[in-house]
Amino acid sequence: MTNQEIIALTGKYVATTYARFPIALVRGEGCRVWDADGKAYLDFVAGIAVCALGHSHPRLVQAITAQARRLLHVSNLYHIEPQARLAELLCRHSFADRAFFCNSGAEANEAALKLARKYAKERFSSDRTEIITMRGSFHGRTLATVTATAQEKYQKGFEPLVPGFKYVPFNDLRAVELAVDARTAALLVEPIQGEGGVQVAADGYLAGLRKLCDERGPLLIFDEVQTGLGRTGTLFAYQQAGVAPDILTLAKALAGGIPMGTMLAREEVMAAFTPGTHAATFGGNPFASTVALETITTILEEDLPGRAARVGARILDRLRTLQARLPSIRALRGRGLLIGIEVTADAKAIVAKCMERGLLILTAGDTVLRLVPPLILSEAEADEGLGILEGVLGEAA
Ligand SMILES: *Cc1c(COP(=O)(O)O)cnc(C)c1O
Repeated sequence: MTNQEIIALTGKYVATTYARFPIALVRGEGCRVWDADGKAYLDFVAGIAVCALGHSHPRLVQAITAQARRLLHVSNLYHIEPQARLAELLCRHSFADRAFFCNSGAEANEAALKLARKYAKERFSSDRTEIITMRGSFHGRTLATVTATAQEKYQKGFEPLVPGFKYVPFNDLRAVELAVDARTAALLVEPIQGEGGVQVAADGYLAGLRKLCDERGPLLIFDEVQTGLGRTGTLFAYQQAGVAPDILTLAKALAGGIPMGTMLAREEVMAAFTPGTHAATFGGNPFASTVALETITTILEEDLPGRAARVGARILDRLRTLQARLPSIRALRGRGLLIGIEVTADAKAIVAKCMERGLLILTAGDTVLRLVPPLILSEAEADEGLGILEGVLGEAA
């Protein structure tokens, strides 16, 4: 089918939830993808920070085909070797003692919210149920996670929302101190707000939240659905803050493009999830677990967090040079290969222009361009993409 044919079929039968760009991508290799008419694009979107190993990575193709021949799914009625090994790998490389598996970021956050409430009720009191989240955050689209997402544009029309949530400004420690009371079960925060415009936690902010939780009892939950697994230059973004959460959520890059989410927690906290209290039919099935194991093993063996730090710094350097002569670049933010460019022009129009010239990038809100390329991005590919972006930004100015 051609781009136009696929667009027409989508327009006729697929739910109208997405404002899509007018191309259909049909093939990918490394950091490049091709549309149905054969046009090639350099991919700085990576399926929205999902395809950490790029497209058609030989190790993933091998793991996927081998596991498809062996066993796809059996349910959590039984023990699953790759799931157990994946949990071990995640715990070995993080603060956590145990992992719960599911299929998406929203589902991982939903699990975290449920666990926090159950733990706080049992450990403290039955009315310790409130969750504090940060303005500008993004935690998912289920009813509870969209309630946690403190942005009206995602909540509008879906009221009544889930009770028991309170919002405070991001990067404002004092506001959290004032909001926490004997009813606070947990704080939920992204170390870098991705959808919210690539807003980085200020120095000392996450450590301040940790101290507050230690003193006053709430659990600290980090949503690393977007920042996790190497993107920001370390395996987890929290490692750069020097403090660990009690609960951590991951999804996006976890299985390199196969849907999967996980919630990691300390032993004492996860113990509140006793048999029968929470579940996911597909969670941690043999297929997704095997692909996640291969994805994370590759990220570690090839030091992709290190590459993200290095190539990301190169991109930011070059953008800073550009900013010096282009006042239309208002701010540059990010860590590793999660980069935000705040512009004075219409961000969406810039994204469309880049697409025409063979570079895929995305936005984070109305005025921020977001770059989240595969972690395997080479210096040459970074330069090539920036060449296109600089041309478009230069003209937009
Ligand atoms: C993408 C994202 C989610 C939601 O993940 P889904 O897989 O779309 O449910 C939650 N939190 C953050 C920080 C995200 O970036």
